[in-house]
Parts: sequence; structure tokens; C-alpha cells
Amino acid sequence: KQTIKELKDEVAKRKKAEHKIMESLRKERELNELKTKFLSLVSHEFKTPLSGILTSATLAGKYTETDQQDKREKHLKTIQNKVKYLNNILNDFLSIERMESGKTNYKFDTFPLSKVVNEVIYNANMLLKDGQRINYPQNIDDIFLNFDEKILELSLTNLINNAVKYSPGHTIIDVVVIPKSDSLSIKIIDEGMGIPQKEQKYIFNRYFRAENALLDQGTGIGLNIVKSHLESLGGTITFESEEGKGSTFTISFPTKNKIN
Ligand code: ADP
Repeated sequence: KQTIKELKDEVAKRKKAEHKIMESLRKERELNELKTKFLSLVSHEFKTPLSGILTSATLAGKYTETDQQDKREKHLKTIQNKVKYLNNILNDFLSIERMESGKTNYKFDTFPLSKVVNEVIYNANMLLKDGQRINYPQNIDDIFLNFDEKILELSLTNLINNAVKYSPGHTIIDVVVIPKSDSLSIKIIDEGMGIPQKEQKYIFNRYFRAENALLDQGTGIGLNIVKSHLESLGGTITFESEEGKGSTFTISFPTKNKIN
């Protein structure tokens, strides 16, 4: 016959087991919800650029005469841009997936800041609207960092592409680098639509998109993953924004990390 204590222990044990099952069910449900959301976002976000690529490819194939070279090149550039856009979205999704499953491997390397900045600016320049310009520092050749290069590239790509996307033509985007002894800050300043005051507190939430941005394509994922990665690496991201005036996003991160 069981004593009262044994009975109590048994109940406690079962409760614990039950809790564990509930917990893993909850996790599985959350992961499933994430996957469903992924799928609907991906299919929605990919549709428009894909049909654009098809149109441009068809037209580029028609402009075969020598005097049509300009038109052909314009369409090829459109294709390049749209493929890059899709590639960025895919990278963001993969980044979340790896983070969620605890498979993110950060890698510290020593590299020149200019390498990443030039690459990101080169790609962003292709997305510029009429009269839009990006000012970025030319005198950063001697700045070497020890940081995760891919994460820096992903962060700058998201922030600079946002500045381009959420600003109209004939505006300037400034990229400012502020080196400190063992950290670095980079500011991305735009003169765009800004973020409405009452929505600013949600801006880093996954999938959140402000009301005034809904006409532009987007997933609401970029800022969320940039923040998660930077914070995992001891960095920060902050912003100031005024609707109709513009936004300034600032990232900061330690630059003297231990080499893996
Ligand atoms: P996405 O741009 O794909 O929607 P993000 O996570 O990069 O996703 O940004 C989330 C939201 O934050 C955007 O939808 C937009 O409402 C707002 N936002 C981000 N950057 C800017 C910016 N530079 N200017 C105005 N709004 C911005």
C-alpha cells in the first residue's frame, strides 16, 4: 500500500511530466505557426517581384537590335535588382530559422570596414529612385574591425535598403561612421516618410510594418533580426524618427571581439 507521501510524490511526478508535454506541444504549435506565417509571407512577397522578373526577361529578350541596347540593359538591371531583393528576403528568413532553432554560428574575423560598406552601398545604389543619393564616408580605409562580417553586412543592407525604400526621390541618405576605442557606431540618416510616433514602440517586433509603409513591399522581418543578432553580439540598435521628416537608425557594436 502506498503511503500518503508516496502518493504525493507520484502526483508531483505526473504533473511534471504533463507540464513537459504541454510545453513541447506549445513549442511545436509556435513553430508551426511560424512556418505557416513564413509560407504565406514568402508566397506573397515573392509573387510581385517574380512576375516583374518574368516581364523584364521577356522584354529583354525582344530588344535584340543594336539600337535597343539601352532598353535591354534597363530590363537586365531590373532583373538584377529584383533577384537581389528576393535573395535578401530569403537570407532574412533563413537567419530567423537558424536563430529559432539555435543554429546560429557567429564567426569573428578581422576585416576592413570599407569592404562591407562599399559592397552594401554598391547594391543599394542600384535601388535608388530619381535624384536619390547616398553619402558615405570615403576615409575609412584604415578602420579594421573584429566582428561577424556577415552580420554587419546583413545589418547595413537592411538599414540602408530601408532608408532608400522609405524615402522619396530627390532626398539624401547619409551614412556616418563613428569609431570609438573598442566599439563602432554607424548612423543611417534619411529624409523619408518617418515612423508615426504611436507605432514606434512596435518597430522591432517581428512582422510589424507601420501604417504609412504598407504601400511599399516588405516583410517586417529585417529590423527584428538585425536587433536580435546585434544584441547577441553585444551590440545595440536605436532610432529616432519623425513622421514626414525622416529617420535615423544607429547601430553600435564591439570591435575587439575574441577570434574564434
Ligand atoms: P520591411 O521593410 O520589410 O517592412 P523592416 O523590419 O525592415 O521590414 O521594417 C519594419 C517597418 O519599420 C517597416 O515596414 C516600416 O514601417 C518601418 N521602417 C523601417 N525603416 C524605416 C525607415 N528608414 N523609414 C521609415 N520607416 C521605416
